[in-house]
Amino acid sequence: MDVTPILDSLNDAQRQAVTAPAEPTLVIAGAGSGKTRVLVHRAAWLIDVEGVSPQSLLAVTFTNKAAAEMRSRVESLLNIPVNHLWIGTFHGLAHRLLRRHWREAGLPQNFQIIDSDDQLRLIKRLLKNLEVDDSRWVPREVQYFINEQKDEGLRSKHLDDDGDPHRRQMISLYKEYEIICDRGGLVDFAELLLRAHELWRDNAELLAHYQRRFKHLLVDEFQDTNAIQYGWLRLLAGKTGVPFVVGDDDQSIYRWRGARVEHIHQFQRDFPKTTVVKLEQNYRSTATILNAANAVIANNSSRMGKNLWTEGAEGEAIRVYSAYNERDEADFVIGRLRDWIDQGNLRADAAILYRSNAQSRVLEEGLINARIPYRVYGGLRFFERAEIKDALAYLRLMSNRDDDSSFERVVNKPTRGIGARTIEIMRQYARANSCSMWRAAGAIASDELSSRAANAVLAFLNLIERMARDTAELDLQDKVDHAIHSSGLIDFFKKDKGEKGETRVENLLELVSAAKSFEPGMSEEEMSPLDEFLSHAALEAGEGQASAWEDCVQLMTMHSAKGLEFPLVFMCGMEDGLFPHQRSVADPNGLEEERRLCYVGITRAKETLYITHAEQRRLHGMDSFAQPSRFIAEIPAEHIEEVRPRVQVSRPLHTPRSSPVTRTMVTTGAEMGIRLGQRVRHGKFGDGVILNCEGQGAHARVEVNFENAGTKWLVLNYANLELM
Ligand code: ATP
Ligand code: MG
Repeated sequence: MDVTPILDSLNDAQRQAVTAPAEPTLVIAGAGSGKTRVLVHRAAWLIDVEGVSPQSLLAVTFTNKAAAEMRSRVESLLNIPVNHLWIGTFHGLAHRLLRRHWREAGLPQNFQIIDSDDQLRLIKRLLKNLEVDDSRWVPREVQYFINEQKDEGLRSKHLDDDGDPHRRQMISLYKEYEIICDRGGLVDFAELLLRAHELWRDNAELLAHYQRRFKHLLVDEFQDTNAIQYGWLRLLAGKTGVPFVVGDDDQSIYRWRGARVEHIHQFQRDFPKTTVVKLEQNYRSTATILNAANAVIANNSSRMGKNLWTEGAEGEAIRVYSAYNERDEADFVIGRLRDWIDQGNLRADAAILYRSNAQSRVLEEGLINARIPYRVYGGLRFFERAEIKDALAYLRLMSNRDDDSSFERVVNKPTRGIGARTIEIMRQYARANSCSMWRAAGAIASDELSSRAANAVLAFLNLIERMARDTAELDLQDKVDHAIHSSGLIDFFKKDKGEKGETRVENLLELVSAAKSFEPGMSEEEMSPLDEFLSHAALEAGEGQASAWEDCVQLMTMHSAKGLEFPLVFMCGMEDGLFPHQRSVADPNGLEEERRLCYVGITRAKETLYITHAEQRRLHGMDSFAQPSRFIAEIPAEHIEEVRPRVQVSRPLHTPRSSPVTRTMVTTGAEMGIRLGQRVRHGKFGDGVILNCEGQGAHARVEVNFENAGTKWLVLNYANLELM
């Protein structure tokens, strides 16, 4: 291959990075400036021009998807098979290494990887065997503790209890956990990294072998490496390796998972000869989107500072839609998506981003109703999430005791001392007597079980009976609310101090929201609202699921959008308290991390960006009012265009005067400003609230709910409504 094609599509700074001499290189640059592109081209350059063997290249990406992308890009650039190349995530590469060197790593050849649920189960069993009180030593806290230590590269033997008895116990549990994993040949995710690190650290010959083999180490998203990942790289680089890392300090969003943006500075200390390359031209987004992102991130104080510019078109203004509530927001998003699809665009080119997982529910509902195929990227659809299935299983049992699969799902969740052995006895009994598990449980509790097991089973049966009795007269939403609490699920997940537990609690509370807005009576059959809700949930879980190859809209959290790009992006739920997240607003570091996340979100958009927020939101089962996110106000007004509801609006309610939303709106309205939910006064009917609007200009009509005169449709031009 001729040299030019590789360099052709690069600018000068990118070319400088790609062709940099074989010395440590740090490319530090903003979003969409071609960091990932540079990394890929660097690989191609080394192989094709410098004659480096593809075997001596190791490339680390952040996700499996990015790794696949890099493989295919290298493949298409070079036309060589790439399956055997060492391109992957940190976890993937560590795994590969351990498979090859299981003996040196002290593992059995058939070692098993356990995911975080397996890990948790293991810890629970361990606590039980040791007869440790699991209400004091909460399994999830133990799990969190262990993983945190491993991420820092620490084994139990390295830890000091500092005279703290609580810590002493944690350390000893960590030690027991290590023993069990070693005995069973089990390797959890954090262990993959730690073990791979130790493998090299303690095995000079092996390390030397890999140092000779992998001279070129390419790393993407370097700002989000944690201690053990960085340590691993440093070991491998040694004195002769050539690390080539790319990253953006403004996109460091995983501090809460142990990532340290400080590694960017550490890198320059550890490799004093480092060449730093800055890329400043952005190729992804329109000038409008880019300038908006730049303006937002400029509010952060701890930055390395860089200036991103583009030669690209100015592009459309960022559309901000201020929704009345979360359903109005979803309707709006879906309406715009429809237009987009109708114009012949690919669904996969559109992404809906949100801050917290539970927000997906209302959006999913809208997409399902509109029959727009979608996929939740990096996660499950709402009704497929484990905690939602748990809660539904309780509700199903309350409605129908003979539902065996629900019975099995929750009989011991949260743990209540009903072990696998007891369940097996029930199954046998149920099979032999052709009855449900519920009946079997009742029957065997009286004679076939030990008194401890029998008590546990009876307690479960009583719990379900009590839940059904106590909720008999309640509304659907209160039933659901009661169920998630009295089942113990909420407490169970609350004990999990990690991100997962919090998300699960939020999702459970969101199920109450779902019940609240569920409108029963749509079914032909005679059904109780609960049964109708349960069938709705079952259908939603199964329906609309796009198959892998189908073109579908992408839903994801802002976190999982890192590194990706889409022509059309919606950022939903841009409200203070939701984004920035409530728990971060009081803490300056937390707020800065949220702002970086916002920067990541905005810079995913290539052409069109919508930002939506709702004045009123039902989320996690609660209704709340919110101000538009402060991040919206950080976008210069000239880049924003307020999208109006069906009727022309000139002045929003609930929007602070300082926000850009307000500023742009004042300029528009010759026509009277109206929004849903707004309070108005009518000469004859008195005070009321706008419920609905339709039509444009002279035909614009509004529906108003008057406190004394009831609901009326009025023609705006004649009504002489006074805004309040
Ligand atoms: P992020 O920070 O979001 O990870 P990045 O810096 O890795 O972004 P890339 O994804 O590599 O940026 O590039 C962004 C977009 O710009 C891609 O579509 C890429 O193909 C395009 N691009 C990058 N450099 C050039 C160039 N010199 N000419 C044309 N297009 C380019
Ligand atoms: Mg990238």
